[in-house]
Amino acid sequence: MSAVPLGVRAHWLTCALDGRDHAVVDHDPVSGAHLSACARTVWASSLASPPAARCTDCRDAVGDTDDDRPTGRLGRWLGRGAA
Ligand SMILES: [Zn+2]
Repeated sequence: MSAVPLGVRAHWLTCALDGRDHAVVDHDPVSGAHLSACARTVWASSLASPPAARCTDCRDAVGDTDDDRPTGRLGRWLGRGAA
């Protein structure tokens, strides 16, 4: 897997199908699908859902090394919400 190209800003989105957060790097405005750094199609879950466990392939692709990131309400309370 290749790293995300310079200049491409990824944002984390929870997939409704696998329940993990993926680093989204592209969006298809026609279908509404999101393409992740791990080359999966991400179907967004409710934006009101708390952050989930991050996909390890996406973490590798974007260089995310924050292993102790709390998720959900505790994470937001601690000021470490989704990137
Ligand atoms: Zn992923």
